[in-house]
Amino acid sequence: MTEVFTGNFTQQEPIPEEGITAALAVLRSGRLHRYNTAAGEVAETALLEEEFADLTGANYCLAVASGGYALGCALRALDLQAGEPVLTNAFTLAPVPGAIAAAGGRPIFIEVTENLVIDLGDLEAKAQAHGARLLMLSHMRGHLCDMTELMALCDRLGVQVIEDCAHTMGAAWNGVASGRHGVVACYSMQTYKHINSGEGGFLISDDAALMARAVLLSGSYMLYAKHRAAPPPEAFEAVRMVTPNVSGRMDNLRAAILRPQLKLLGERVARWEALYRMLEAGLVATPGLALVERPEAETFVGSSFQFRLPDWSPARIALFLQRCVARGVELKWFGAAEPVAFTSRYDHWHYAEAQSLPQTDRILAGLIDLRLPLTFTPQDCEIIGRIIRAEALAVGQGPEPEGVSAPAIQ
Ligand SMILES: *Cc1c(COP(=O)(O)O)cnc(C)c1O
Repeated sequence: MTEVFTGNFTQQEPIPEEGITAALAVLRSGRLHRYNTAAGEVAETALLEEEFADLTGANYCLAVASGGYALGCALRALDLQAGEPVLTNAFTLAPVPGAIAAAGGRPIFIEVTENLVIDLGDLEAKAQAHGARLLMLSHMRGHLCDMTELMALCDRLGVQVIEDCAHTMGAAWNGVASGRHGVVACYSMQTYKHINSGEGGFLISDDAALMARAVLLSGSYMLYAKHRAAPPPEAFEAVRMVTPNVSGRMDNLRAAILRPQLKLLGERVARWEALYRMLEAGLVATPGLALVERPEAETFVGSSFQFRLPDWSPARIALFLQRCVARGVELKWFGAAEPVAFTSRYDHWHYAEAQSLPQTDRILAGLIDLRLPLTFTPQDCEIIGRIIRAEALAVGQGPEPEGVSAPAIQ
């Protein structure tokens, strides 16, 4: 009998009971706005910021409405000028170029390597060609480039690094937390990331002037002294009257849900690694299928898994995806002609100027991606691995298919 997987690729774990209790207390208090506190009370949002700053070792932390908001806020806090070029990964998701465009910048895409990280040679060439001063480095799907080399290169080029850590909360390079290499880092707490409040984002930084601007931008009015993980009031003096309010605050309800999850992050990272390694073991040495190498220096969070089908025709990949879906394994394909659900590609973002990235085109043409929610068990990953392997062998070694189109996957 053909084995079929019956798990759900979009089902996350419930909010911990402690978070539900804390959320109910916020609802009962009626004080959901972060600056609406009773005498002597410290808002859940301010406590959350303090705890995330502690967890990452950053001096300052600001909680905001979404990861995309955090990225835009970081660019504005770095005084992005209208029409200014911002270097970024060609392999990323829509909120990244979207944040650059919305803040008035011009996304300049950098090639991806076969190990799914930014190409440092192309980065250097384009930083120089465009005279860019900002890199929005997206650690897309949790793959960290050599952060030591990247920071040395950017320091030499005079480029400031904004880290997009939407997929690297809990990850590290040589033991240094992801998000602690650049001048500022942004995280997302959207349902599919590593802690879940539906929507939400963080900025962290050690730069007091930058963070004072970010706090004001987020919509702090003149209440910034209510923050705990923010610079002291003096840091706001020079900017409090000249920084526009671009409201995007986090509220106490979301903060209450998130605080207990911060404590679970380490345990979640370990569970994700077990899922990832189980799937990887099932796919190793599959003819026609290339795995992504994970460097020794990288502590990664295996919340998703990628592999490549190098040089497969689009029709062959479409047939493979169809057959996997028929067996309950939902895969995403970065090579699809049209954007589907969450998955799109740099040449689908027509608000950015058209750019030619032949290396990225070649790699994304064969790039397959799947989520590994924590509701999966290692045994689930064993089944998924068996199905992918069997279908990759059957389709990869079968005749060239005709007239097959890729299934639509959410
Ligand atoms: C999710 C995500 C973001 C931020 O997204 P929000 O949905 O706005 O929180 C940024 N970058 C990447 C790569 C993402 O996947």
